[in-house]
Amino acid sequence: MRKIVGGNWKMNGTPRGTEAFMAAMGTAGPAGLRADVVVFPPFTLIPMASLKAPAGVEIGGQDLFWEPKGAFTGEISAAMLLDAGATWFLAGHSERRHVLGETDAVVRRKLDAGLAAGLKGIFCVGELLGEREAGRTEEVVRGQIEGGLSGLGASPRDLVIAYEPVWAIGTGMTATPAEAGRMHTLIRGWVEGIAGGAFASSLRIQYGGSVSPSNAGELMSMPSVDGALVGGASLEPGSFMAIVGSAG
Ligand code: PEP
Repeated sequence: MRKIVGGNWKMNGTPRGTEAFMAAMGTAGPAGLRADVVVFPPFTLIPMASLKAPAGVEIGGQDLFWEPKGAFTGEISAAMLLDAGATWFLAGHSERRHVLGETDAVVRRKLDAGLAAGLKGIFCVGELLGEREAGRTEEVVRGQIEGGLSGLGASPRDLVIAYEPVWAIGTGMTATPAEAGRMHTLIRGWVEGIAGGAFASSLRIQYGGSVSPSNAGELMSMPSVDGALVGGASLEPGSFMAIVGSAG
């Protein structure tokens, strides 16, 4: 399976920086991109990013709201993301879940809305440090997967799962390749139970959590790790391209 690397800029970026980032990505040439690449800038930079993105780099929204339009101050619909040039969206990122209070039910409404509108989605799951320490990692992640996927009816081409242990996000602490590989294998098994073997075997599962140029190759060399979702190291084109380069 071709790997997929996402860059989540979170609440960072400027128009000038976006232009420079995309120009730097372009120097790799389409053949130099050894994975599918999706960059998630803040909403305000999506038009600029999609205009300047070189071949092989797609753009996504970091979030969306499930209603198509109306009196929802501050929200962005799936159709608006498409209009702005995005082809992907994130659902259930840990900062949305744990800083902004999104529940599994909210994440599911976003998944349904984004996929129905024709966007492709990266569905993020992962346990908190306290849950890991309490031995609840599998229960928590399995619950998130069931909430997101039961009865979803999506094509595995349009969906990616990102396993992102919350204790590893932005902390410099990374799951070991063996830990990530073990969780990905469990996740694929749970997905198989929900959506069937054909779906599960063609679904890509990324790892996320302090992925850097120095650990990306080893993590993505695990057969069950189909790519990476990268936060901090995606802000600088050199480190992001190094991670993309270690996918192939
Ligand atoms: C993320 O935002 O999804 C993420 C994994 O961040 P970082 O790479 O900075 O840990």
